[in-house]
Amino acid sequence: MTQKFNRILILLVFILFALPAISTSSKIHEILFVQSYTEQDTWSKELNEGLIKGFSENSIHANITVEYLNSRFWNWRGEEEIMRRVCKRAAERNTDLIVVANDEALYSLLVCGHSLPSEIPVVFFGIQFPNEEVLSRYPNATGLTSPVPYDVLLETAKKIFPERKNVLSLSENNALGKNSNKVFRDTWKEFHSRNPEYTLKEFDLMNDAITAVLEDIQISVDAHKSILIVPYWGLYMPSLSKVSKSPTFTACGSALFNGVFCTAAPDMYEDARGAANIASKILKGTSPSEIGITESEYELVFDYNQLKFFNVAKDRLPRNPIVMNEPYMQKYGFWIILGYVLLLGFLVVFLVRLISINRRESRKRIKAQTKLMIQNKLVAQRNEFDNVFHSIREGVITYDKDLRIHFVNRSTLRMLNLPEEVNNSGFRPYEGLQAGTVCRIHHNGKNILRSILKKVNRQGISVEIPENSFIEAIDSKVYFPVSGECVPIFANGKQTGVALTFRNISDEALQKKFFDLAIEESSIYPWQYNVEEQTFTFSIGFIMRIACNKNGKITRKELNKIIHPDDLVETNNNFNAAVDDKLTNTRLTFRLLNKEGYYEWWEFRFSIIKGLNEDIPYNIVGVSQSIQRYKTTEEELIAARDIALQADKLKTAFLANMSHEIRTPLNAIVGFSDLLKDIRSFSEEEVELFVDTINKNCILLLALINDILDLSRVESGSMDFQFAQYNLPVIMREIYESQRLNMPKNVKLIMELPENNDKTIVTDTVRLKQVINNLINNAAKFTSSGSITFGYTENEPYFTTFFVKDTGKGISQKEQERIFERFYKVDTFTQGAGLGLSICQTIIGRLGGSISVKSKEGEGSVFFVTLPNHRS
Ligand code: ADP
Repeated sequence: MTQKFNRILILLVFILFALPAISTSSKIHEILFVQSYTEQDTWSKELNEGLIKGFSENSIHANITVEYLNSRFWNWRGEEEIMRRVCKRAAERNTDLIVVANDEALYSLLVCGHSLPSEIPVVFFGIQFPNEEVLSRYPNATGLTSPVPYDVLLETAKKIFPERKNVLSLSENNALGKNSNKVFRDTWKEFHSRNPEYTLKEFDLMNDAITAVLEDIQISVDAHKSILIVPYWGLYMPSLSKVSKSPTFTACGSALFNGVFCTAAPDMYEDARGAANIASKILKGTSPSEIGITESEYELVFDYNQLKFFNVAKDRLPRNPIVMNEPYMQKYGFWIILGYVLLLGFLVVFLVRLISINRRESRKRIKAQTKLMIQNKLVAQRNEFDNVFHSIREGVITYDKDLRIHFVNRSTLRMLNLPEEVNNSGFRPYEGLQAGTVCRIHHNGKNILRSILKKVNRQGISVEIPENSFIEAIDSKVYFPVSGECVPIFANGKQTGVALTFRNISDEALQKKFFDLAIEESSIYPWQYNVEEQTFTFSIGFIMRIACNKNGKITRKELNKIIHPDDLVETNNNFNAAVDDKLTNTRLTFRLLNKEGYYEWWEFRFSIIKGLNEDIPYNIVGVSQSIQRYKTTEEELIAARDIALQADKLKTAFLANMSHEIRTPLNAIVGFSDLLKDIRSFSEEEVELFVDTINKNCILLLALINDILDLSRVESGSMDFQFAQYNLPVIMREIYESQRLNMPKNVKLIMELPENNDKTIVTDTVRLKQVINNLINNAAKFTSSGSITFGYTENEPYFTTFFVKDTGKGISQKEQERIFERFYKVDTFTQGAGLGLSICQTIIGRLGGSISVKSKEGEGSVFFVTLPNHRS
């Protein structure tokens, strides 16, 4: 309850005190401001401004109506009439307060007879001679009075012009003039008592002739010894003070700029502001009587033009003088110069700064423009490069040092079936992606793209994509055999990236495969001969076959080293002749040493490409073909032909021999058989001889037929060979036993075997025995006395050498070369068809061995048969 009461009390207090304040501050007050003079007077504006300023400082919303009395024009009666009208108009406007400036306006307002000045507050200022009797009737009137400090003026004049001791006083004879004169005289008395050397001469402008005044203040020489005091600034004063050669001193502030040397009066602007302060207090509720009448502070003001005219330096003036009209230059010279200097300095600094900023800006602009230009140029160049690379048929991908894709050309996109993401040439598809995200390069099942790129990046060298590599698009899975290389990209001597160039070689590879296949099969290899360098460039296939370790390029000298010595001269002569265009045949056949160390027959066919003129060959291209197969066939054919010819010869010889060999025993058989028809005519011994002869010739014939049959079986390949392991001493003993009794009379058969030998051999024992028997038979035929020794030796590992040695007639060196020929006999009269050794040689050949003879005529012969211990 108490709380609620308190709150209501606070609210009431607020209403009581705050509301009037709010209403006062928000109300617009109607103010009448009356000035004594006219709107044209220079100070009129100052008064208005001071008043407005004062009200606004006090937050008073005032609607000020200014009225001008023009007191210099009207007399007292006129002034009063005008004031009545002013009051009437003000009353109609419901004026709240009247502000009055100067003596004339206040006096006429208070005595005009209108009721308004007594009804509303009146605030006055600039009042030099307040009429106290009249003012006492207006308690609502208050304000500021202006002192008339004539003593100050006199003292100031004395100080500034000590040589001027004549004081001239000018006054008008009106009410104010009289008042002022009175006050001045009082002041003079005091001054004169202190300064008796000074004299006073008074002029009354209403009564004295103006010429007398002018005589003293202007024309007379004494004017230079005088000062002019104007207690009341009347209507005529300006015209006099302007021509006065005596400096004029007055207490009227508005007199300045009319030839007055010095005034002692309050500042009019400040006075008006002070009046507004008082009026504001009244409007806010303070009673005028409470405020009372206050005297304004005066200030000494000098006219600069007068200082100059009277040649008075400023330092002769009292302290801190106010000098009006002083040219700014004079007044604030130092500050202005300082200001100018500072301004100039500032301007210079500013200008320098501006210039430097401008320069910097222009440098920046030029830099930016240049950069832009370079960028445009670079973009244009880049586009140009892009277009160049786009027009290349080969795929091109460039990477930066971090192996991020920098550029992919159109051929790559097409080949790898990659989508062209943006057609705009300003953008590069796949730019910035890591190597390996668009495609891979496979080699032997491994992705080698990054390893190649890294190698190029690290070592700064070109690396070829190895043969049999495939490139594969990661997204589309398109792949094909590829060839190409990775090369480092350099800029200003520094490696900036890697470029991969590649092409699809699927067609090429196919063609090459076909070509290689054709070449492989036909053994045809292309080559090229550089006439100037005398160098052949051969295909790898050819190099692989010949005995040369070079890598494709072979000089002519190097080739000559592997040409068969027998073919060298002719081949070189023919080649030189062909190069010199002297040989129409451009086909050379010669032997070249091959990798296996054998000479192989080759045919070089070539064509000469003419150079700048017809005489100079530019290049020679050709193919080389191995003709070894044909040569072998040819040799075989020749051999076959020779064999056939030989066979033909042999056949003739055979027939001739056969006719002789067969006829001889047959003749004997037939002849003796005929004799046996008449068996009774011969004795028993004779018949026995005949039968013996027939038997002997039958055996001969049978042996001959056996030989021929053996030969034909060996020749036709129908002879059977049964290989088995045999014990050699056993075989030898069997031969010995079968031959022992066939020996001629004085010839002994000896078997010679290595001691304690139990050697075995894998062979056909029938054929081996046939050969050894044949050799023993021959030995027996041509040995009349001595011995025939046979056996074997073990001198060679893996081989066994059989020998049959006799002490017979021997065989000459010449005959030794021919005895293995068929049907060859040293002595045609000896027994046999001359086939035995020939058959032996063929059989031994079939058993994998060889047969040879050593013999000396008259001493005997040794036949050697060497056979492998095991079947190969
Ligand atoms: P054939 O079957 O007629 O004996 P061969 O071919 O065996 O003929 O022998 C050819 C010739 O070699 C013989 O006619 C003989 O002149 C000579 N000849 C062979 N063996 C001996 C030998 N041990 N001593 C001397 N001459 C021999």
